Amino acid sequence: MTQLPNDQHITYQFQFRKCGKASCSTCREGQGHGPYWYAYWREGSRLRSGYIGKVSPEEAGYAQTAGAR
Ligand SMILES: [Zn+2]
Repeated sequence: MTQLPNDQHITYQFQFRKCGKASCSTCREGQGHGPYWYAYWREGSRLRSGYIGKVSPEEAGYAQTAGAR
């Protein structure tokens, strides 16, 4: 499971993503795969992201944020 930092402000997004495979009809014909939950946070000046999955951050136990919805 994705390790999220607990000393950073994390933003959760429920979104579609493309896998990048040219042969993938899901991405070619639609918005991509998902929607799945992703976490975003900053590490220094870099934006990092982590895959969470279909369950919400709260259900997955990442729920340290009150304003995630
Ligand atoms: Zn795809």
